[in-house]
Amino acid sequence: MKVSFLDLRGPYLELKDEIDQAIHRVVNSGWYILGEEVDAFEDLYAKYCGAAHCVGVANGLDALHLGLLALGVGPGDEVIVPSNTYIATWLAVSHTGAVPVPSEPDRGTCNINPVDIESIITSRTKAIIPVHLYGQPADLDPILEVARRYGLKVLEDGAQAHGARYRGKRIGAHGDAVAWSFYPSKNLGALGDGGAITTNSSEIAAAVRLLRNYGSRKKDGNEVKGFNSRLDPLQAAVLSVKLKHLDEWNSRRRYVARQYLQKLVDLDLLLPNVPEWAEPVWHLFVVRSRTRDELRAVLNAREIATMIHYPVPPHLQPAYADLGFVRGAFPISEEVHETVVSLPIGPHVTDSEVEAVVNAVRDACL
Ligand SMILES: *Cc1c(COP(=O)(O)O)cnc(C)c1O
Repeated sequence: MKVSFLDLRGPYLELKDEIDQAIHRVVNSGWYILGEEVDAFEDLYAKYCGAAHCVGVANGLDALHLGLLALGVGPGDEVIVPSNTYIATWLAVSHTGAVPVPSEPDRGTCNINPVDIESIITSRTKAIIPVHLYGQPADLDPILEVARRYGLKVLEDGAQAHGARYRGKRIGAHGDAVAWSFYPSKNLGALGDGGAITTNSSEIAAAVRLLRNYGSRKKDGNEVKGFNSRLDPLQAAVLSVKLKHLDEWNSRRRYVARQYLQKLVDLDLLLPNVPEWAEPVWHLFVVRSRTRDELRAVLNAREIATMIHYPVPPHLQPAYADLGFVRGAFPISEEVHETVVSLPIGPHVTDSEVEAVVNAVRDACL
């Protein structure tokens, strides 16, 4: 049985009538930049996240970048980032002129380990970016506590965690701000690029609003050297439709994750560890295997797609050669990158697909 990694068309087909209507509404409105559709989505998403404000931007990288600028991060600053993350988290720091300072992950969750953060704080440290990686919330309380003690800002990277909860409360306003991506494959995905910032701070929200639109509050007034990074109203309209279904889609992901956790437990595989305070939304289901290439080959032969998130850590990418990190600089992250495999998961994975994946993984591991 052929199993694709993620069915990107499934969500559209399930909501085709509603999404088509939303798209036609925007096309017929004659209004194609910002405006009512973007405002409406921002209100809905802020409420969903339990945040006072949401500001839509063009993509997740810009959400991180403009979020850091709004927090006052710039040249000469250091920002603590996970050594194990998608490179966007680091790039946003670099684009402000600040330097990313990596911190190693916890071995069980692969998320930033709060215990290590304090030891790398310097007089230049300005902010911390915890990433809620694979849809699993980072351990925010100890991170926020260290940040308070040292006067640091906290910008969360929520790109993989729409709807996840930390100690019962939705990700959206624990730190100073949260950066979101609505890249099509995310749990809440647009039909193209999209992003947002959520925050309880009216100052941060106002700063991002300026930055996303040429530094302009009103026509022909430019208060700061801003960017063009606006959430497209077509995407906002689609996202407003999809948001209504996010909880149900996340619970379908949870159901798939439960099957994998139960049916693969006895194998020589490291399954994701879920701390008791975490309610993950399973953006990815990442297992670790010392023989992952063999495991992937068995699944591949049965036409079951897998992926690696991510094969090369940011500190070993050519883009970061300037920081001078060598192999071995972040051994936990490197071990994670060398052993991870992501199994198919999504709201449109069927029971028989789960069964095919489970059987193939079992056959490969026994
Ligand atoms: C997807 C992603 C981003 C970037 O989002 P884009 O919308 O593709 O720019 C940032 N951080 C993490 C952890 C992501 O997974």
